[in-house]
Amino acid sequence: MIAFIGSGPHNLTVLAFLLKADPTLRSQVVVFDPSGVWLDRWNHQMESQEIVHLRSSSVHHPDPDPLSLRRFAKGRFAEFYPPYYLPGTALFRQFCEDLVHRNELASLIRPHRITRLEPSGAGLRVHFDGGSLQADAVVAALGGGDRVWPEWAPEANETLLHSEQVDLRELQGEPGRLLIVGGGLTAGHLAWGALKRRWSVDLLTRSPVKYKLFDAAPGWIGPKFMTGFHQETDWKRRRQMIAKARGGGAMTQEIKEALTPFRRSGQLTLHVQKIRSLSKKNLLWEADCGWGKTLQADRVWLCTGNRLDLRSHPLFSGFWADYPLPMYDGLPVLEPECRWSGLPLYLMGSSAALRVGPTARNFPGARQAASRIVQALTGVLVPPN
Ligand SMILES: Cc1cc2nc3c(=O)[nH]c(=O)nc-3n(C[C@H](O)[C@H](O)[C@H](O)COP(=O)(O)OP(=O)(O)OC[C@H]3O[C@@H](n4cnc5c(N)ncnc54)[C@H](O)[C@@H]3O)c2cc1C
Repeated sequence: MIAFIGSGPHNLTVLAFLLKADPTLRSQVVVFDPSGVWLDRWNHQMESQEIVHLRSSSVHHPDPDPLSLRRFAKGRFAEFYPPYYLPGTALFRQFCEDLVHRNELASLIRPHRITRLEPSGAGLRVHFDGGSLQADAVVAALGGGDRVWPEWAPEANETLLHSEQVDLRELQGEPGRLLIVGGGLTAGHLAWGALKRRWSVDLLTRSPVKYKLFDAAPGWIGPKFMTGFHQETDWKRRRQMIAKARGGGAMTQEIKEALTPFRRSGQLTLHVQKIRSLSKKNLLWEADCGWGKTLQADRVWLCTGNRLDLRSHPLFSGFWADYPLPMYDGLPVLEPECRWSGLPLYLMGSSAALRVGPTARNFPGARQAASRIVQALTGVLVPPN
């Protein structure tokens, strides 16, 4: 039995690659996710942030055949966005639904959260609320991890939210003043959504907002940069390459252009500041930025990202004593097949970055990791490109 933890796009990619390698394995797969459906978190994020199209190109998706999305989109080419055929959100969702349907994957999900993993014989015992299951191998794709909550921010409430908790569709009624903290694409999307609803927005970033098309330059998808990455045997330097390639959060030129008229009209103001404290005064939030500068707002949204901390994560915390992994600035050194050394446990997402490179969190990296994992499980190479 192969247990998949998480039914997001990354595990959909591994499963699609696995069934391409050996369709008979379908009967030996179980997928755990409390949502009980595929891509629940992904679809929710896209809808609640009103994201029009993906940031990645049309050849990067969960199906092993890179061109299948373009074929699926026959007659719908208006739903690809320049400059690299970025698929529209609705098109991408329908494509993934079709992939789930074609491979009969809906019934494989069990609506449980995995609470513990435990070495057991040659496999792992997978514990969930109300039961457990013996697995020969486990593939975990848990997404971005915990919300990063700045130390100066009080507890969340209706008017103070992390970006993951924001749903633009619920921003109704009389517009007010909104403070957004963060300079990544999520901050840009949420600012745009609020501005369109006539809110006044202060966007606060620690350094000037950067603009780029992809999380990591396209050279990180192919041999241009990845050859040097794989030749680098010093893990510390590989870690630095990843940090440099991804940089901090950045917006796209398209979002910049969407925000420009609001900046010109004064409805949007950008601030390069650090917040020292945030408190509520007479129904308004007041952010103290030091040097006498304060910002007031009816609502505050923290677009401060997420972080997956393998060391403190409850699923993995029991492994460190007997199965330690070398760590470089939060990233583990996995085996080349993205496996936790000594365990039949495979990790997707940022945890695989020291193996598959700076795009590990995105679809190009997911395809690389899926190809490696599936080859390890079946002996069959399903190429990522
Ligand atoms: C707004 C946004 C837009 C993005 N756009 C792009 C893009 O255009 N192109 C691109 O390449 N990348 C993009 N990314 C990056 C990345 O592709 C996505 O974050 C993607 O959703 C990651 O897939 P995932 O399957 O790892 O995680 P998720 O989609 O987060 O799914 C993880 C799943 O794991 C489940 N889970 C967690 N813990 C447990 C547990 N203990 N037991 C059972 N289930 C559990 C969760 O319920 C969840 O359903 C985007 C990211 C964000 C946030």
